[in-house]
Amino acid sequence: MSKLLVVEDDDTIGKVLESSLRLHGYAVSWQRTGHDALTEAAASEFDLVLLDLGLPDLDGVEVCRRLRAMLPSAVLVILTARTEEMDVVVGLEAGADDYLTKPVRLGELLARVRAHLRRGGTSAPTSPALTIGHLRVDTAGRRVSLAGSEVALRSKEFDLLARLAEEPGVAVSRETLMSEVWDEHWYGSTKTLDVHIAALRRKLAASATSTDQVPEISTLRGHGYRLERPRS
Ligand code: CA
Repeated sequence: MSKLLVVEDDDTIGKVLESSLRLHGYAVSWQRTGHDALTEAAASEFDLVLLDLGLPDLDGVEVCRRLRAMLPSAVLVILTARTEEMDVVVGLEAGADDYLTKPVRLGELLARVRAHLRRGGTSAPTSPALTIGHLRVDTAGRRVSLAGSEVALRSKEFDLLARLAEEPGVAVSRETLMSEVWDEHWYGSTKTLDVHIAALRRKLAASATSTDQVPEISTLRGHGYRLERPRS
């Protein structure tokens, strides 16, 4: 049974989330403050966290950052009433994998939770490692290395790179990436995608010992992204 941590100070929303998620077969721990959420995360493992950014005691983004450090393999989804893109970007940069804006539509939330847990789940991929220039993406072991040294990526960053690496030199649309890496029912902003691409570029560049080792991810305006084939 998947274990979910719900962090929400609003009684009405918290109760709805807790009861619907339980009804759908998840084990739920509902915490109302940032402090209680961190205590709970220190005490047990979770597969997925739903985190309200507007908490009464601690800054939601800071809670996000700490939860990310404590639960490195959990999927972290932020809930925010604030629709400003900056809050979303800051949350994603603090370690969130995805976000939902309030008011949350329950059907969408459940679909998203299901998709995240399925993806992070039990199916064993059997495809061999992909090698593109200095980059090696081992999909079975979920590891990435660049010129032999390992690059530590978060779960969604890995999925995104693995998807692009399946077809080097091929343009992959934003819609395809959002639906295959995040959620087949995606119909929100694709800001999440841009933030993850930026993080990928940063981490790959930081791992390289020379610029010619860095795999190039091109932005195709109005379309999507392409992992370039190495020049030879
Ligand atoms: Ca709140």
